[in-house]
This record gives sequence, structure tokens and C-alpha cells, in this order.
Amino acid sequence: MVNNKYKILIIEDDKNIRSIIVSLLEASGYQVICADSCGAGKTFYQSHHPDVVILDLGLPDTDGMNFLNFVREDSLTPIIVLSARTDDMDKVNALDAGANDYVTKPFSSAELLARIRTALRNYRHSSDSGKFPGGVFRLQDLTIAYDARQVFISDKEIKLSQTEYNILALLSENCGKMMTYAAIIKGIWGYSDEGSIKKLQVNMANIRKKFGVRPGERWFISNELGVGYRMNGVNE
Ligand code: CA
Repeated sequence: MVNNKYKILIIEDDKNIRSIIVSLLEASGYQVICADSCGAGKTFYQSHHPDVVILDLGLPDTDGMNFLNFVREDSLTPIIVLSARTDDMDKVNALDAGANDYVTKPFSSAELLARIRTALRNYRHSSDSGKFPGGVFRLQDLTIAYDARQVFISDKEIKLSQTEYNILALLSENCGKMMTYAAIIKGIWGYSDEGSIKKLQVNMANIRKKFGVRPGERWFISNELGVGYRMNGVNE
């Protein structure tokens, strides 16, 4: 029998949470491998070559960050951090160490599945030569034509500054992924200084204004204070 299911490795020491995730993922058609410690996670990672890893940070032997660094030495396998930690610094550290995303406990099934789909999609895209067909990005009524550096809502062009366009393009290229302030700043300005986050926030506010989004109104970019920005995927 050919096994073409995506393989997901779960590294989580809490038995109850582990069995909830296993049932959820198996019911969604994924093949699941479980580890209850960082050490076992590394062993299974090397022997099973999973497509996605769901990683708890608080593990009995060493911190989950240890696994993250271990994998990122030579692989881009998507890693979704699952954490009870609500401290923003932990999220930022995990994302900056190369985690693709994080989900905070308690999480919803729909949210976890959406994050897994996004991680798989982005990972497959990143290995393609042309990221988007025809160099055009579409999300609901938003269109970005990368070659012409033009942005449209429905058919109306939104005139953005160079920097504003660069920020929007960067978020769209990482659609669905939470980008930390540091990652965006590095991508846009290449360096960061004391005023960088403020500068980013000012640009984001201007982009919102040009799109006609009123304060508090939901749109396709969400901001988690103290962490970063995410362009929301199609199913979110
Ligand atoms: Ca734990």
C-alpha cells in the first residue's frame, strides 16, 4: 500500500493533550507519531522525517527550544509551537529561532488544523521556483502584482509608498504566518534600532488608512501586540 498521508510528529508530555491532538489529526487524515520528551522527539524526527512537527515548549528533559535549534541547524521542516506560555517573549523567541507558528493552549481544533494547513502550504511553496502563478497574489478582494509593484482592492489601485509596499509584499509572501516585528524590520530595513518598531507601526497605520480600514475594524492583517503581524490565510 502506498502511504501518501502527511506525517506529523507531536512532541508533548501531557498525555491528555497528546491524545486529543492524535484523535483530531487522525480524523483529519494525517499520520501521527508521538514523542513525550525532547530526546524522543529528536530520535523520531530523524527516523520518521515528518512533514510537520507540533512542539510543546515545556518538556520534562529539556526545553522545546532545544529541539527547535536542533532541527533548524539543517532543515526547514515546519514547526508549530504549542505552548501554555502566554509570555510574548517566549513566542517571539520561538518564532525568531525558526518556529513557523505557535498556538497557545487552550487552543481550538479548527485553529490548530488551519495552522497545520498553512505550514504545509508555505513549505511546499517555498520549494517552488515561482511562488505565485503569474507573479500575482490574491486574497479575497486584495490583489498584489509583484512585478509592477501594484496593489488593488477589487479593481481600485491603492497607492502605497515604497516602504509600505515592501511591508505588504513581505506579509503576503508569508501569508498565514505570524511575522515577528524583528523579522519584518530585518526584511524591510535590514537593520534594527531603537525606533524600528515605532517606524513599522507608523507604516502599518498608514497602510490601514490607505485601505480605508477604520480603527478596531477587522481586516486581512492582524496584529498581536508585543509579537508581530500576520496576513491571514484564506481559511482563517
Ligand atoms: Ca508540557
